[in-house]
Parts: sequence; C-alpha cells; structure tokens
Amino acid sequence: MDRVRYAAFVRTFFECDPKAITGIFQEFLDALRAQESLPPGNYYSQNYDTAQANPEIHVLPGNLKDARDAVFPYFWGTDGWSSPLHLENVRGPANYASLIGTMACLLKNPNLCTDSYSQRSNELEVKAVTALANLIFYHTDEPWGVFTIGGTISNLYGAKLGLEKVLPGAMQRGLTGEGIAGIVSEASHYSNQTLAGWLGMGTQNLYSIPTDRTLAMRLDLLALKLDELYTAGTKVLFVVATFGTTDGAGIDDVAGIRRIIDEKAAHYGVTTPQLHVDAAVGWALCFLSDYDLEKNPLEFTSDLLAVVRQAQTHAFGLRVADSVTLDFHKMGRGHYPSSAFLMSHRADLKYLARDVADTPYFSDADMRRDPALVTLECSRPALGPYAVMASLNGIGLTGFQMLTARSLELAHGLKQRLAKLEYCKVLNAETCGPSVCWWVLPKGRHAAQIFEKLENGELSPEEIQRYFGEVKRLFGKRNYSLDPAIDARLSFTTNFGYRPLGMEIPAWKAVFFNPKTDEAVLDQLVESLELL
Ligand SMILES: *Cc1c(COP(=O)(O)O)cnc(C)c1O
Repeated sequence: MDRVRYAAFVRTFFECDPKAITGIFQEFLDALRAQESLPPGNYYSQNYDTAQANPEIHVLPGNLKDARDAVFPYFWGTDGWSSPLHLENVRGPANYASLIGTMACLLKNPNLCTDSYSQRSNELEVKAVTALANLIFYHTDEPWGVFTIGGTISNLYGAKLGLEKVLPGAMQRGLTGEGIAGIVSEASHYSNQTLAGWLGMGTQNLYSIPTDRTLAMRLDLLALKLDELYTAGTKVLFVVATFGTTDGAGIDDVAGIRRIIDEKAAHYGVTTPQLHVDAAVGWALCFLSDYDLEKNPLEFTSDLLAVVRQAQTHAFGLRVADSVTLDFHKMGRGHYPSSAFLMSHRADLKYLARDVADTPYFSDADMRRDPALVTLECSRPALGPYAVMASLNGIGLTGFQMLTARSLELAHGLKQRLAKLEYCKVLNAETCGPSVCWWVLPKGRHAAQIFEKLENGELSPEEIQRYFGEVKRLFGKRNYSLDPAIDARLSFTTNFGYRPLGMEIPAWKAVFFNPKTDEAVLDQLVESLELL
C-alpha cells in the first residue's frame, strides 16, 4: 500500500483539527440562524425521485468539507422546529444545554454496553436515571433504569418484565401456548401494539379498555376485563397505564389501577401483572410536584395554579408504578434519542438478567455495573444521559417548572378562548397537559350541543358523517389559506382517544411545546378560526 497516501487521509479523518471542525460548525450554525428568520416549513423540497437511483459514494478520499457538502442540502432541507408557530405535535426545539451535553458525548462516542467501553459515561447514566427516578417515584430506595432509543423500546422493557414475572423462564422457554394478555387503554399509544407483536404475544392478546371523557382508562371496565380474563384462566402479564396520551394529554388513574390489579390478583391467587406507566409525554408534570402553591414563587396566575394543583395530584399516582417510560426528548426538550426506562425496584432486574455465558465477548461483565447483561441492545449510545444531565443542571428544576407550566398555561388559555366560540367545542377540556383537541364547525352550529347529542347516541349516521366532514373540511380550508409567516401550524387526528359508543372522533389539535410560543400566536389562531 502507498503508505504516504494512507497516512495523509488518516490524518485528515482521524486527527482532531479544531480549526477545520469549528470552522465547518460555524457554517452550519450560520445556516441554522439564517433559517430561523424564515417561516417554518419546507425550506428545500425533497427529491425522492432519484434518491435511490443515484446512491453516490465518492471514489477518492476527500476532506471534511466533502463531508459537509455531502449532508448540507439535507441539513438545509430539515426544519429544526424552532418556530413558535409549530403546534402540530409533541415535538419542539431541543434546548442548547442538551446540545452541549450531546456534543461532548459525540466527541468521545462512548458505548454504554459495559463499563469498560464507557467508563464515567456509564456512571453518568446511573446518575441520570437516578435523578429521573427520584423525580418520578419521589422516594424510592433502589431504583434502576436504562436509556433506550425511544418510548416504544422503553414500553417494551416494561412489558417484558411483566412477561418474565408472570411466566417465569419465558426468556429461555419462550411462550408455551398458555392464554396470555396485556392491557392498555383505548387512548394508549400504538407502540403497545408494536411491542405486543414484537414480543410474540400477539396484538390480538392486547386488550384496550375504553376511556372516559378525560381520556382516562375506565376502572370499572378494567375490573370487569380482569375478572373475565382470570376466570378464563388467562395470564395477565402487564397493564400499561398512559400518563399523558399523545393527542389529548389524558392521564390514567395509576393509583386506582394499582388497587384493582393487586386486589384481583390476590382474589384469583395469581401473580400481579407488571404495572408499567407510559409517561413518555406526561412525566414532566413531576417537575411541578414540589411547587409551593401557597408561596407561588414563580407568580403563576390563579388559573394556572389550579392547573398545577391538578398536575400535582396526577403526578402523585406515579409513585406506585413498577416501571415508567419517560421520553426526555419530548417535554425534557432534549435531543433524540433520550428515552429512559425506569424501574422502582432494582431487584426486578433479575427478570431480565442473562448469564455472562450468554454474552461471551463481555466475559468479564458484572451485573452491578454492566448494563449489557440486562439490556435488549448491545451497543448503546450515551446521548440520553448527556442530554439529560446537561439539561437538568443547565436549566435547573425552576427552569423546568417554568417551561412545563408555560406549556400548561398556553394549552389552558387556548381551551378557554375556544370555549367562548359557539361553533367550537374543546374535546379534552378536563385534561392537564400541553395539548388541545377541538372541533371547529361552520358558524351557526352549536358545537357543544352537537357533541352532547353524539355522546347520547341522538345523531343519525348521516348527521355524524356530515359534522365530521365539516370538521375535516374546515381544517383543510384553514391550511389552504394560512399565512405561513403568522399562522400557527396545527394537526388533525382521526381519533383523539375518547370513543363514546365505540365511535372514533376526529379533532383539530394544537400542542404547546415551543417555549417561544406566546399569547399573540393564540390571538392569531383564534382570529383565523373567526375568518373561516
Ligand atoms: C411518543 C410516545 C411514545 C413513543 O415514544 P418514541 O420515543 O416516539 O418511540 C409512546 N407513548 C406515548 C404516550 C408517546 O407520546
């Protein structure tokens, strides 16, 4: 081999040249800032037509600017979601403390499989999961947790724990044909379907309990379902409670579910199912758990204090969960992926443990410090722990209280404004979270009365179709005529999570994730409805 040539490109790509790197980074930052002055949206249209026809690989070694050029159009063509007009979904701009953390992580590129491949980054994960577990479970003696690539995988861990608790040895023997079940609510996230399929239990064995108007699982129907399943000899592996549904911010009564599953398991003499809580979105309410409502140091309005009080009550329920999914890349405003799977009792790890004999190339692995012996993944990024600890300690508890409360305040504010419009109906009025789901009907219609009739089964199928069609059509009309520089971007869901008489109900949706969204955006949003 031509060693001179070899040495030249190794120098370019494997020796740190701070000037070259920061120079390119400066260019990316300049582009980012230039884009922040533009309306949100597609800056640069996609070109899927030839994306596969010409998968290019350069022939000769180049330099770091070639690397820059290879990605720049795609970087420019990606919305960083920094605009305060983005209200579509549980997605917001990542905070810059998280950027500092994750950049540091990328510079070292640790692998959290075992301590030997990550040293103090492994310790940082222990710190991050303990900090989050203390926030969620409040006082817990020996929590444990691990970062995963997303809420879906964190939920999978919860379900897997239930499977191993209720069917001991499933890890080795597999599912042996016994009747098994998992339980979620009708407003739960579809990731539960994913995990039921991927765990091999089958989506048919995942039962959805209807929700009430607050999008919370109906406890009476949960009790009935458990009776039905246990009477038939079915083994119930887990109940996944949802703490903050993705569309409507509904929150299950976790303590109520705990009571029922304990009671029923004792009554039928079976192992209690895993109580896993999918708090991917809603966990951030826990930042407000300790907020002093009397002293009110952050000067919340009395309206907001009432919402915060409600949040505190909900957050209290999380303390009795066995395990929790927490997406820091949602309301933590951290970078992807920073989802945490948290367990209240470290002792439960035994259900996931494999022998060192099963992980031959980690032959010196030790259960006390090497996650690879219990995790689904082998190589694991440390981005989550870095994003979390940098954010928590940069922004601080008080900062996160302000961020969380502001989301609640804006959602509450929009609900109140919409409630004054006769042709609108807020569908998730009683939930406590960052999102608003509502109907817009043509002027002259009384939306609340129509909704009441719908709930009572007093509308004909034709009427229902007509109203649902109007809700959808007006959404399209606003989208068509909006001014991207001033009008907020909303989204539309075909099923916001409450299904009276089994019916899926469509809704307009706004989610308040962007810290820069303000009342002027709400004013303009309401104005745009008036003009439809
Ligand atoms: C987003 C979300 C998930 C999935 O999490 P990912 O991180 O996107 O995989 C699961 N449950 C709820 C309630 C969610 O909002």
